[in-house]
Amino acid sequence: MASDPPYVTAGIEIHQQLDTGRKLFCRCPTLLRETKEHTGEFTRFLRATESEMGEIDRAALEELKHVRRFTYYTYDTTCLVEDDEEPPQPLNPEALEIALSVAKTMGMTPVRQVHPMRKLVIDGSNTCGFQRTALVALAGRLPDGTGIETICLEEDAAQRVVEGVFSLDRLGIPLVEITTAPDMHTPEAVQATAEYIGMVLRSTGRVKRGLGTIRQDVNISIAGGARVEIKGVQELDLIAEVVRREVMRQQSLLAIRDELRARGASVERGAQDVTATAARTGSRILTKAPRVLAVPLRGFTGLVGREIQPGRRLGSEMADYAKRCGVGGIFHTDELPAYGITAADVEILRAQAGAGEKDCLVLVAGTPDQAACAAEQVIRRAAMALEGVPEETRRMLPEGSTSYMRPLPGAARMYPETDVLPVTVDAAAWDRVPVPELLSDRAGRFVKEFGLDAGVARQIAFSERLPLFERAVAEGVNPRLAHRALIATPVELARKGTDLSRLTDDQYLAVLRAVSTGKAAKEAVPELLAALAAGKPEAEVLGSLAATLTPAELDVLVARVLKEREGFVKERGKAALGPLMGVVMAEVRGRVDGKLVSEALKRGMERMEK
Ligand SMILES: [Zn+2]
Repeated sequence: MASDPPYVTAGIEIHQQLDTGRKLFCRCPTLLRETKEHTGEFTRFLRATESEMGEIDRAALEELKHVRRFTYYTYDTTCLVEDDEEPPQPLNPEALEIALSVAKTMGMTPVRQVHPMRKLVIDGSNTCGFQRTALVALAGRLPDGTGIETICLEEDAAQRVVEGVFSLDRLGIPLVEITTAPDMHTPEAVQATAEYIGMVLRSTGRVKRGLGTIRQDVNISIAGGARVEIKGVQELDLIAEVVRREVMRQQSLLAIRDELRARGASVERGAQDVTATAARTGSRILTKAPRVLAVPLRGFTGLVGREIQPGRRLGSEMADYAKRCGVGGIFHTDELPAYGITAADVEILRAQAGAGEKDCLVLVAGTPDQAACAAEQVIRRAAMALEGVPEETRRMLPEGSTSYMRPLPGAARMYPETDVLPVTVDAAAWDRVPVPELLSDRAGRFVKEFGLDAGVARQIAFSERLPLFERAVAEGVNPRLAHRALIATPVELARKGTDLSRLTDDQYLAVLRAVSTGKAAKEAVPELLAALAAGKPEAEVLGSLAATLTPAELDVLVARVLKEREGFVKERGKAALGPLMGVVMAEVRGRVDGKLVSEALKRGMERMEK
C-alpha cells in the first residue's frame, strides 16, 4: 500500500552573484581571491545583544553556543566598509538594474521604494553582524505557472576558510535572491524550475558564472513530514536527486516513528557514566576520553542503524546533533561490536547502563562538559524520532544526501538599514528596465540567422563564451568557425587533457582573425589555441603564420604537384581532386585552408585541360 509516491511540496531560493564592476555598498571589485593572497587579518568578537535579538530566535540561540571570536582575512582591495569601520555607500545602481531586469522578465511588480534592511546573521560571515538585503519586486510567474514570490538584492557573505576564519573577498558581492512559491511537487519539477530561473539569470549576460556563483536552497516537506531547508546546493544537476533523497529520508523517519510507537519505545532523560568500563575496551577514542556517557534508548534497537537515505542512518542524525558539542561523533550498539569494542564489552556496557536487548545504547565521549552536552543532544534527537521529522536547516553532502546544520530559523527579523538611503523605482525608471532576450530564444534566432542546427545553437547560447561568440560574429567571423574554435575545439582539447583555462578572449579572437583573414587554416585552430594556452607568446604563435603560404606560393606548390602527377590527372579527370587534396594538404600541414587548396587545385586542373 506504500506504493503511491508521497505528496511533496517544494520551493526554491536561488542566490546568484551579479557580475557588477563593484560591490553592493562599496567600490571594491567583485573578484574572488586566493586566500594565500591575503595581506592582513583582524579579529572580532561578535555577540548578539538582547535588543537586536528581541525574542531570541531558536537558530540564533543554537549559534550562540559556539565560537564567538572570528578572524577575517583582508586583501589589497578590502576597504573600511567591509571591515565595518565605515558606513556603507549608496546601493550600487548597476546591481539594482540587473535585479529589476530579472524581475521584469519574470513578470514581477517592483516595489516603489527599495529599502535596504538589516537581517541578523551571527555565524560570523558578516563583519557587522547582519546582512543587508533589499526587497526589489514581488509576485511573478514562470511560463509553466510556478509562482515567484520575491526577488531581493543582497550582499554576499564572507567565505568561510576554516572554522572561525572568514575571507572578505566575497563579502559584499551583489546577489539576487529569488524565492519561488512552494509550487513544485516532484523532484523533476524542482530541477526544471531551478534550470529555468538559472537560464533567465544568465540571459541578462550580467551574472557571474562557475561553481559557487549560484547557490540554491531547497525547501521540502512531504505529507506528514516537516519543512526542511537544504542549503547550498551548487550543482544544478543534483537538485532532483537532493529532493528524491530528502523525500526518502522523511519517509524513512516516518516509518521509524511508526515502528517505535508500535514497539512502545521511549526516551528517558539522563545518561550513565561508563568511563571506567569504556577505558578497558580496545577503542582508542573511548580509552582516551576523560568522560564516556551511555544513553539507553528504550525499544530503539535496530532502528538507530537503519539507513534513511544513502550513506545516512538515524544514528548519523544523532551524531550531527552531538557534534554541536565538540565531540567527533557517537557509537551505538546497532553498529557494535566494531571499532575495537568487542561483543563482551557491549554486554558489560549494556548491563552497566541498564540497557536490555530491545534497547539501543548510544555512547558519547569527550571532556565532561562535551560528553554531558552530547548525551543531552542524543536524547533530544531520539525524542524527535518518536515525533517524526524535525524541522531543520540541512547542508548538502557531495552526492546529494544531507546532514543537520541547525534548527529552521523563525521568520527573519529585519531592521531598517539607517545608513543607506532608499531608492525610488518610479514608472519611468521601470519602463526603461531592459528585458533581455532569453538564451532559449537566442538559440532559436541562431538557427534562423546562421543556419546552425538546433543543438549547436543551444550549445552556443548556453555557453559561457556566448559574448565572445557574438563579438567574433559581429567582426565578420563565420558563425560555424566561431562555434568550432570557441566551443567545440576547447571541449575536444580538454578531453585530451589540454588546459585552455588561461586563454583570454583576445587570444581566441586573434586566432579567429588569423583564420578569417586567411593567415591560418581552420585546420590549424586546435594547434594554435594549445600553443597560446601553453604560454607561447602570441607574436611567436601567430607571427610565424606570416611565413605560411601566400596565394601565389600555393599556386606554385599546386602547379608542382599537378605536374608531378600529370598522367594521373589526365587519366582520372575530376575524380583526381580528392586524392590530390590529400597530397597538397599533407604538404601545407594546416598552413592553408582546405577550401583554398581545393580552389587552387581546381584552377590548376582547368589550366592543364587547356
Ligand atoms: Zn569595499
